[in-house]
Amino acid sequence: MTTYEEIFENNRRWIAAKKAGDPQFFEKIARSQHPEYLYIGCSDSRVTAEEIMGVEPGEVFVHRNVANLVNSTDLNVMAVLNYGVRHLGVKHIIVCGHYNCGGVKAAMEAKDLGILNPWLRNIRDVYRLHKKELNSISDEGARYNRLVELNVQEQCVNVSKLASVQQGYMDHGYPEVHGWVFDIRNGELIDLKLDFPNILKDIQEIYRLTGE
Ligand SMILES: [Zn+2]
Repeated sequence: MTTYEEIFENNRRWIAAKKAGDPQFFEKIARSQHPEYLYIGCSDSRVTAEEIMGVEPGEVFVHRNVANLVNSTDLNVMAVLNYGVRHLGVKHIIVCGHYNCGGVKAAMEAKDLGILNPWLRNIRDVYRLHKKELNSISDEGARYNRLVELNVQEQCVNVSKLASVQQGYMDHGYPEVHGWVFDIRNGELIDLKLDFPNILKDIQEIYRLTGE
């Protein structure tokens, strides 16, 4: 494990390595940011957005919370999405879940989890929406994995309910919304290949927030 002191030593080495690669590196990133990707993922310490995507500082705008939820009453995620779409003009919004997610697992258990109850209730709602499919999976591990995927899918639906996302897509064909799962057991990043144009069309029947 890295010690507290080592973190600052690591930082000095990182600065030197970046400058060796590009002497202007920090001057460039200090000027402004133009990320094309907005990533919403889990706070889990094993799922590090930039590292699993192999991107550099400046390439991805990141929001993380327990179990990668997009809740319309969460001012934090709503502010990130609004700023990302309206001001940064991101082209892609990614909701990334991961197998072995403690938040999703906790939501499958009959247990009082205190302050986590209202937060994880969003995942119980996903379970209720897909109860038939999930209950038909007899293997508990497989059911848990499927709930991770369905949670990502439902959070992508929640992203698509935002006026900024709908307006942007109508005006210039982006942002597109993508659902990913990170397989913590082998490091693989899986694109669930959700059909975003169809998801948007389908939910706009009820959630359309733009004019005709
Ligand atoms: Zn997690």
